[in-house]
Amino acid sequence: MACQFGITVVGDDPEWLGRAADDAFDEIERIESLLSMYDPTSDLSALNRAASDGPVEVEEEVFELILVAGTIWEKTGGAFDPTMGPVVRLWRRWRAEGTAPDPSAIDKVMQRVGMEHVLVDVGTRTIRFAVPGMEIDLGAIGKGYAVDRALEVIGAYHIKHALVHGGTSTIGAVGSMNSETEGWRIGVTDPTDEGGATEVITLRDEALACSNQDNQYYEFGGRQLGHVIDPRTGWPAPADLSMVVVSASATRADALSTASLVLGRSGEETLIEAFPDVRVHCLSQGATPSAGMT
Ligand code: AMP
Ligand code: MG
Repeated sequence: MACQFGITVVGDDPEWLGRAADDAFDEIERIESLLSMYDPTSDLSALNRAASDGPVEVEEEVFELILVAGTIWEKTGGAFDPTMGPVVRLWRRWRAEGTAPDPSAIDKVMQRVGMEHVLVDVGTRTIRFAVPGMEIDLGAIGKGYAVDRALEVIGAYHIKHALVHGGTSTIGAVGSMNSETEGWRIGVTDPTDEGGATEVITLRDEALACSNQDNQYYEFGGRQLGHVIDPRTGWPAPADLSMVVVSASATRADALSTASLVLGRSGEETLIEAFPDVRVHCLSQGATPSAGMT
Protein backbone atom coordinates (compact mmCIF):
# COMPACT_ATOMS: atom_id res chain seq x y z
CA MET A 1 0.00 0.00 0.00
CA ALA A 2 3.09 2.12 -0.37
CA CYS A 3 2.90 3.69 3.05
CA GLN A 4 3.96 3.07 6.62
CA PHE A 5 1.41 1.99 9.16
CA GLY A 6 1.55 3.01 12.80
CA ILE A 7 -0.14 1.50 15.82
CA THR A 8 -0.64 2.94 19.30
CA VAL A 9 -2.11 0.72 21.98
CA VAL A 10 -2.91 1.82 25.53
CA GLY A 11 -3.02 -0.45 28.57
CA ASP A 12 -1.14 -1.75 31.61
CA ASP A 13 0.66 -4.80 30.28
CA PRO A 14 3.45 -3.91 27.82
CA GLU A 15 4.01 -7.51 26.75
CA TRP A 16 0.32 -8.02 25.97
CA LEU A 17 0.18 -4.71 24.11
CA GLY A 18 3.28 -5.63 22.12
CA ARG A 19 1.79 -8.95 21.07
CA ALA A 20 -1.41 -7.28 19.98
CA ALA A 21 0.48 -4.69 17.93
CA ASP A 22 2.67 -7.40 16.34
CA ASP A 23 -0.39 -9.39 15.34
CA ALA A 24 -2.06 -6.28 13.96
CA PHE A 25 1.03 -5.52 11.83
CA ASP A 26 0.97 -9.11 10.55
CA GLU A 27 -2.67 -8.62 9.63
CA ILE A 28 -1.81 -5.47 7.65
CA GLU A 29 0.87 -7.41 5.77
CA ARG A 30 -1.58 -10.19 5.04
CA ILE A 31 -4.04 -7.69 3.59
CA GLU A 32 -1.34 -6.12 1.46
CA SER A 33 -0.57 -9.56 0.04
CA LEU A 34 -4.23 -9.92 -0.96
CA LEU A 35 -4.92 -6.47 -2.34
CA SER A 36 -1.85 -4.96 -3.95
CA MET A 37 -2.27 -4.26 -7.67
CA TYR A 38 1.52 -3.89 -7.99
CA ASP A 39 2.44 -7.24 -6.39
CA PRO A 40 2.12 -9.93 -9.07
CA THR A 41 1.64 -12.60 -6.39
CA SER A 42 -1.40 -10.91 -4.78
CA ASP A 43 -4.90 -12.36 -5.08
CA LEU A 44 -6.02 -9.14 -6.75
CA SER A 45 -3.29 -9.44 -9.41
CA ALA A 46 -4.36 -13.03 -10.11
CA LEU A 47 -7.91 -11.78 -10.64
CA ASN A 48 -6.77 -8.90 -12.86
CA ARG A 49 -4.70 -11.25 -15.02
CA ALA A 50 -7.48 -13.75 -15.66
CA ALA A 51 -10.88 -12.03 -15.48
CA SER A 52 -10.78 -10.77 -19.07
CA ASP A 53 -10.77 -14.39 -20.24
CA GLY A 54 -13.70 -15.65 -18.18
CA PRO A 55 -15.15 -15.90 -14.66
CA VAL A 56 -12.51 -16.16 -11.92
CA GLU A 57 -13.23 -17.50 -8.47
CA VAL A 58 -12.06 -14.85 -6.05
CA GLU A 59 -10.68 -15.20 -2.52
CA GLU A 60 -13.56 -14.51 -0.13
CA GLU A 61 -12.20 -11.40 1.56
CA VAL A 62 -11.12 -9.78 -1.71
CA PHE A 63 -14.52 -10.60 -3.17
CA GLU A 64 -16.33 -8.99 -0.22
CA LEU A 65 -14.21 -5.85 -0.47
CA ILE A 66 -14.90 -5.58 -4.21
CA LEU A 67 -18.63 -5.79 -3.38
CA VAL A 68 -18.22 -2.97 -0.85
CA ALA A 69 -16.26 -0.97 -3.44
CA GLY A 70 -19.07 -1.57 -5.94
CA THR A 71 -21.65 -0.20 -3.52
CA ILE A 72 -19.54 2.90 -2.90
CA TRP A 73 -19.10 3.34 -6.67
CA GLU A 74 -22.88 3.26 -7.06
CA LYS A 75 -23.60 5.60 -4.16
CA THR A 76 -20.99 8.15 -5.24
CA GLY A 77 -22.36 8.24 -8.76
CA GLY A 78 -19.13 6.69 -10.05
CA ALA A 79 -16.75 9.26 -8.47
CA PHE A 80 -15.12 6.39 -6.60
CA ASP A 81 -14.41 3.80 -9.28
CA PRO A 82 -12.19 0.82 -8.40
CA THR A 83 -11.55 0.05 -12.08
CA MET A 84 -9.30 3.04 -12.66
CA GLY A 85 -6.23 0.76 -12.71
CA PRO A 86 -5.29 1.13 -16.39
CA VAL A 87 -5.61 4.93 -16.28
CA VAL A 88 -3.72 5.14 -13.01
CA ARG A 89 -0.85 3.14 -14.53
CA LEU A 90 -0.75 5.46 -17.56
CA TRP A 91 -0.48 8.58 -15.42
CA ARG A 92 2.09 6.94 -13.13
CA ARG A 93 4.25 6.17 -16.15
CA TRP A 94 4.00 9.72 -17.46
CA ARG A 95 4.86 11.06 -14.03
CA ALA A 96 7.89 8.74 -13.65
CA GLU A 97 9.17 9.56 -17.15
CA GLY A 98 8.23 13.23 -17.04
CA THR A 99 6.35 12.70 -20.31
CA ALA A 100 3.54 14.92 -21.55
CA PRO A 101 0.09 13.38 -21.26
CA ASP A 102 -1.32 12.09 -24.53
CA PRO A 103 -5.10 12.71 -24.75
CA SER A 104 -5.59 9.98 -27.36
CA ALA A 105 -3.90 7.44 -25.08
CA ILE A 106 -6.28 8.51 -22.28
CA ASP A 107 -9.31 8.09 -24.53
CA LYS A 108 -8.11 4.66 -25.54
CA VAL A 109 -7.45 3.43 -22.03
CA MET A 110 -10.75 4.87 -20.79
CA GLN A 111 -12.50 2.23 -22.89
CA ARG A 112 -11.17 -0.31 -20.39
CA VAL A 113 -12.59 1.26 -17.23
CA GLY A 114 -16.00 1.39 -15.58
CA MET A 115 -17.37 -0.67 -12.71
CA GLU A 116 -20.44 -1.42 -14.84
CA HIS A 117 -18.19 -3.74 -16.88
CA VAL A 118 -17.27 -5.83 -13.84
CA LEU A 119 -19.63 -8.80 -13.81
CA VAL A 120 -20.02 -10.22 -10.33
CA ASP A 121 -21.67 -13.54 -9.56
CA VAL A 122 -22.33 -13.79 -5.83
CA GLY A 123 -23.54 -17.41 -6.11
CA THR A 124 -20.26 -18.74 -7.49
CA ARG A 125 -18.09 -15.97 -5.98
CA THR A 126 -16.67 -15.22 -9.41
CA ILE A 127 -15.80 -12.04 -11.28
CA ARG A 128 -15.44 -11.50 -14.99
CA PHE A 129 -14.49 -8.39 -16.92
CA ALA A 130 -16.89 -7.63 -19.77
CA VAL A 131 -14.18 -5.56 -21.46
CA PRO A 132 -10.74 -7.12 -22.00
CA GLY A 133 -7.76 -5.44 -20.33
CA MET A 134 -9.59 -4.09 -17.31
CA GLU A 135 -7.87 -3.92 -13.94
CA ILE A 136 -9.27 -3.47 -10.45
CA ASP A 137 -7.33 -1.02 -8.28
CA LEU A 138 -8.21 -1.01 -4.59
CA GLY A 139 -5.59 1.63 -3.75
CA ALA A 140 -8.21 4.14 -2.60
CA ILE A 141 -9.89 1.78 -0.14
CA GLY A 142 -7.24 -0.77 0.86
CA LYS A 143 -5.51 1.37 3.50
CA GLY A 144 -8.82 1.90 5.27
CA TYR A 145 -9.66 -1.77 5.06
CA ALA A 146 -6.28 -2.66 6.58
CA VAL A 147 -6.87 -0.15 9.42
CA ASP A 148 -10.29 -1.69 10.16
CA ARG A 149 -8.89 -5.22 10.19
CA ALA A 150 -5.91 -4.24 12.37
CA LEU A 151 -8.27 -2.66 14.91
CA GLU A 152 -10.30 -5.86 14.91
CA VAL A 153 -7.18 -7.86 15.77
CA ILE A 154 -6.38 -5.43 18.59
CA GLY A 155 -9.99 -5.69 19.80
CA ALA A 156 -9.62 -9.47 20.08
CA TYR A 157 -6.95 -8.75 22.73
CA HIS A 158 -9.63 -6.85 24.71
CA ILE A 159 -7.65 -3.65 24.34
CA LYS A 160 -10.08 -0.77 24.69
CA HIS A 161 -7.93 2.18 23.58
CA ALA A 162 -5.98 2.07 20.33
CA LEU A 163 -5.16 4.01 17.20
CA VAL A 164 -4.02 2.61 13.85
CA HIS A 165 -2.99 4.75 10.91
CA GLY A 166 -1.91 4.13 7.34
CA GLY A 167 0.52 6.78 6.16
CA THR A 168 -1.09 9.21 8.69
CA SER A 169 -3.80 9.81 6.09
CA THR A 170 -6.19 7.06 7.16
CA ILE A 171 -6.72 6.76 10.89
CA GLY A 172 -8.98 4.53 12.95
CA ALA A 173 -9.32 5.01 16.70
CA VAL A 174 -11.12 3.23 19.51
CA GLY A 175 -11.58 4.51 23.04
CA SER A 176 -9.49 7.50 24.00
CA MET A 177 -5.83 8.48 24.10
CA ASN A 178 -5.92 9.03 27.88
CA SER A 179 -8.38 9.43 30.74
CA GLU A 180 -8.58 13.20 30.22
CA THR A 181 -9.75 13.15 26.62
CA GLU A 182 -13.06 12.24 25.06
CA GLY A 183 -11.32 10.30 22.32
CA TRP A 184 -8.25 10.64 20.13
CA ARG A 185 -7.48 14.20 19.11
CA ILE A 186 -6.27 14.30 15.51
CA GLY A 187 -4.62 17.47 14.26
CA VAL A 188 -5.20 18.31 10.61
CA THR A 189 -2.90 21.01 9.34
CA ASP A 190 -2.23 22.70 6.05
CA PRO A 191 1.52 22.68 5.27
CA THR A 192 1.03 25.11 2.39
CA ASP A 193 -0.45 27.67 4.76
CA GLU A 194 2.53 28.62 6.89
CA GLY A 195 1.44 29.25 10.43
CA GLY A 196 -2.05 28.15 9.44
CA ALA A 197 -4.46 26.85 11.99
CA THR A 198 -4.63 23.21 12.95
CA GLU A 199 -8.11 21.84 12.99
CA VAL A 200 -8.59 19.22 15.69
CA ILE A 201 -10.97 16.37 15.02
CA THR A 202 -11.78 14.07 17.92
CA LEU A 203 -12.30 10.44 17.04
CA ARG A 204 -13.81 7.86 19.33
CA ASP A 205 -14.66 4.49 17.78
CA GLU A 206 -14.47 6.24 14.41
CA ALA A 207 -12.13 6.66 11.51
CA LEU A 208 -10.85 9.57 9.47
CA ALA A 209 -9.32 9.69 6.02
CA CYS A 210 -7.68 12.61 4.32
CA SER A 211 -7.20 12.78 0.55
CA ASN A 212 -5.34 15.41 -1.33
CA GLN A 213 -2.94 15.53 -4.20
CA ASP A 214 -0.23 17.37 -2.34
CA ASN A 215 2.58 14.85 -2.58
CA GLN A 216 1.71 12.69 -5.57
CA TYR A 217 1.37 14.91 -8.57
CA TYR A 218 3.34 15.79 -11.60
CA GLU A 219 3.61 19.22 -12.99
CA PHE A 220 2.69 19.77 -16.60
CA GLY A 221 1.82 22.95 -18.46
CA GLY A 222 1.72 24.88 -15.20
CA ARG A 223 -0.80 22.45 -13.75
CA GLN A 224 -0.46 20.02 -10.90
CA LEU A 225 -1.81 16.69 -12.06
CA GLY A 226 -2.46 14.43 -9.10
CA HIS A 227 -2.95 10.72 -8.52
CA VAL A 228 -6.73 10.76 -8.09
CA ILE A 229 -8.43 10.43 -11.47
CA ASP A 230 -11.81 11.79 -12.42
CA PRO A 231 -13.56 8.71 -13.88
CA ARG A 232 -15.65 10.93 -16.16
CA THR A 233 -12.63 12.25 -18.05
CA GLY A 234 -9.60 10.07 -17.28
CA TRP A 235 -7.76 13.24 -16.20
CA PRO A 236 -6.64 13.95 -12.64
CA ALA A 237 -9.20 15.60 -10.39
CA PRO A 238 -8.41 19.24 -9.51
CA ALA A 239 -5.37 19.39 -7.24
CA ASP A 240 -6.47 22.35 -5.13
CA LEU A 241 -8.64 20.50 -2.66
CA SER A 242 -8.01 18.57 0.50
CA MET A 243 -10.87 16.62 1.98
CA VAL A 244 -11.28 14.84 5.30
CA VAL A 245 -14.01 12.28 5.75
CA VAL A 246 -15.00 10.87 9.15
CA SER A 247 -16.97 7.65 9.30
CA ALA A 248 -17.62 4.68 11.56
CA SER A 249 -15.55 2.61 9.15
CA ALA A 250 -12.01 3.36 7.97
CA THR A 251 -12.74 1.43 4.76
CA ARG A 252 -15.59 3.79 3.95
CA ALA A 253 -13.72 6.93 5.07
CA ASP A 254 -10.79 6.02 2.81
CA ALA A 255 -12.94 5.41 -0.28
CA LEU A 256 -15.10 8.47 0.32
CA SER A 257 -12.23 10.88 0.88
CA THR A 258 -10.92 9.85 -2.54
CA ALA A 259 -14.39 10.26 -4.06
CA SER A 260 -14.75 13.67 -2.44
CA LEU A 261 -11.69 14.96 -4.34
CA VAL A 262 -13.47 14.04 -7.57
CA LEU A 263 -16.82 15.47 -6.47
CA GLY A 264 -15.35 18.70 -5.11
CA ARG A 265 -16.99 20.92 -2.53
CA SER A 266 -20.44 20.46 -3.98
CA GLY A 267 -20.12 16.72 -3.43
CA GLU A 268 -20.34 17.03 0.35
CA GLU A 269 -24.13 16.86 0.28
CA THR A 270 -24.16 13.81 -2.01
CA LEU A 271 -21.89 11.94 0.35
CA ILE A 272 -23.74 12.84 3.52
CA GLU A 273 -27.07 11.92 1.95
CA ALA A 274 -25.80 8.57 0.70
CA PHE A 275 -23.89 7.73 3.89
CA PRO A 276 -25.62 9.05 7.01
CA ASP A 277 -22.72 8.15 9.35
CA VAL A 278 -20.30 10.33 7.42
CA ARG A 279 -18.94 13.82 8.15
CA VAL A 280 -17.03 15.73 5.50
CA HIS A 281 -14.53 18.51 6.17
CA CYS A 282 -13.21 20.52 3.30
CA LEU A 283 -9.76 21.98 3.91
CA SER A 284 -7.63 24.21 1.79
CA GLN A 285 -5.00 22.87 -0.56
CA GLY A 286 -2.33 20.61 0.83
CA ALA A 287 -3.84 19.84 4.19
CA THR A 288 -2.67 16.55 5.68
CA PRO A 289 -3.10 15.16 9.14
CA SER A 290 -0.03 15.94 11.23
CA ALA A 291 1.80 13.11 12.96
CA GLY A 292 -1.47 11.70 14.16
CA MET A 293 -2.34 13.32 17.44
CA THR A 294 -2.23 16.66 19.14
P1 AMP B 1 -6.23 7.80 -1.87
O1 AMP B 1 -4.79 8.09 -1.57
O2 AMP B 1 -6.92 6.99 -0.83
O3 AMP B 1 -7.01 9.02 -2.24
O4 AMP B 1 -6.26 6.82 -3.15
C1 AMP B 1 -5.66 7.17 -4.35
C2 AMP B 1 -5.42 5.95 -5.21
O5 AMP B 1 -6.67 5.39 -5.64
C3 AMP B 1 -4.69 6.27 -6.49
O6 AMP B 1 -3.30 6.17 -6.31
C4 AMP B 1 -5.23 5.23 -7.46
O7 AMP B 1 -4.56 4.00 -7.29
C5 AMP B 1 -6.65 5.05 -7.01
N1 AMP B 1 -7.62 5.95 -7.68
C6 AMP B 1 -7.38 7.06 -8.44
N2 AMP B 1 -8.53 7.65 -8.80
C7 AMP B 1 -9.54 6.91 -8.28
C8 AMP B 1 -10.96 7.01 -8.31
N3 AMP B 1 -11.59 8.01 -8.93
N4 AMP B 1 -11.68 6.05 -7.66
C9 AMP B 1 -11.06 5.03 -7.00
N5 AMP B 1 -9.73 4.89 -6.94
C10 AMP B 1 -8.96 5.81 -7.56
MG1 MG C 1 -8.85 6.78 -0.24
